Amino acid sequence: MGDAVHAMPPLGAHGGNTALRDAAPLAAKLEHAVAQGESLEHALSVYQDEMVPYAFRAVDDASKQVRRLTGSNPVQRWILLRALPRLHRVTVS
Ligand SMILES: Cc1cc2nc3c(=O)[nH]c(=O)nc-3n(C[C@H](O)[C@H](O)[C@H](O)COP(=O)(O)OP(=O)(O)OC[C@H]3O[C@@H](n4cnc5c(N)ncnc54)[C@H](O)[C@@H]3O)c2cc1C
Repeated sequence: MGDAVHAMPPLGAHGGNTALRDAAPLAAKLEHAVAQGESLEHALSVYQDEMVPYAFRAVDDASKQVRRLTGSNPVQRWILLRALPRLHRVTVS
């Protein structure tokens, strides 16, 4: 679970949330398997099928944000570093 499986840049507030999102369904699936006398391997496999696409989508999203922030495109940098902070100041104050 968590960063051990899907470490990601700390942009978008996905890392800790995804770790918790790992823990909740994993616990529920293991609990269900034990209560029903079902195979734990099957429970883990169902969990993997659910979480892997979700978690790695979060990794991709965070990585894209890093690329946007560190890219060298001057228009993109101007928007991120000049225009958006000004807009933020105007709309928040
Ligand atoms: C600057 C920054 C900002 C962030 N902001 C957010 C945010 O706003 N929202 C969000 O959801 N996420 C955020 N994250 C990501 C989030 O902190 C992590 O995704 C989350 O803490 C991962 O939890 P984890 O339990 O998987 O790993 P960790 O928090 O790294 O916990 C692993 C633990 O295992 C211990 N450990 C390691 N090796 C061993 C060993 N051999 N024996 C015993 N113990 C060991 C470590 O000491 C550590 O305590 C941020 C991360 C950073 C760096």
